[in-house]
Amino acid sequence: MTNFEQIIEYQKLDTELRRLNNELNKHPDKKKMDIARNDFNAAKEIFDKSLSESEVHAKEIEQVYSEFEANEKEIAELEKAFNAAATDEEKAALLPKMEQAKSRLDSYKNKVNNKIEAIKRLLGTCAQEQNKKKTVKAEYDKINARLKTVKDSFMPKRNELKDKMTELEKTLDKNLLEIYSKARKDGIFPVFVKATVTDGGDYGCLCGMQLSQTNKTKLKNEKMCQCDACRRIVYTD
Ligand SMILES: [Zn+2]
Repeated sequence: MTNFEQIIEYQKLDTELRRLNNELNKHPDKKKMDIARNDFNAAKEIFDKSLSESEVHAKEIEQVYSEFEANEKEIAELEKAFNAAATDEEKAALLPKMEQAKSRLDSYKNKVNNKIEAIKRLLGTCAQEQNKKKTVKAEYDKINARLKTVKDSFMPKRNELKDKMTELEKTLDKNLLEIYSKARKDGIFPVFVKATVTDGGDYGCLCGMQLSQTNKTKLKNEKMCQCDACRRIVYTD
């Protein structure tokens, strides 16, 4: 086998491996898994957000409660002062303050009740999203297991191809292999293409472009050149 024949053989194996990988990646379960993953993340986001909002409300309840306690103390002190007042005038002066403090009690109560209602609502959402997470996770695991079976069924063929490629690498021309690997990394595929010959005897590339004069000379002297248009390696026997 010539060096070019070897690298073409190598490319053939790689093409088959690529085809298998594509087939696996295009499996409908792949998409289903992506959907399940997104659904799970969406539920988790709502869950986390609701939980942290309910924690903020709980903190605020603590704050309101300490204000409520301070207010109770104030009422008790005002009542004490009221009882100890010597004149009616003194008592009358204390009355509006006592009224104010007492009316504040109701507003504290309302605030706490509203926050408790909000927490209940948020925890309801948490429970709902937690269920959703569980359902989606179960679905995800099911698809994943199914996909694993598919992957496993691809494995023997994939391994066989990979082994053959590794074996070939041992005898492959190092320079050609390096060119191949680099081009593959750059997303070029297939890498090596045989020069096409037009009726007029001109050399061209698989992509349809005719080779430049420089490349034609290179092809003649070195048996290969890189297409200026598609960057594939054009070779000739
Ligand atoms: Zn080309």
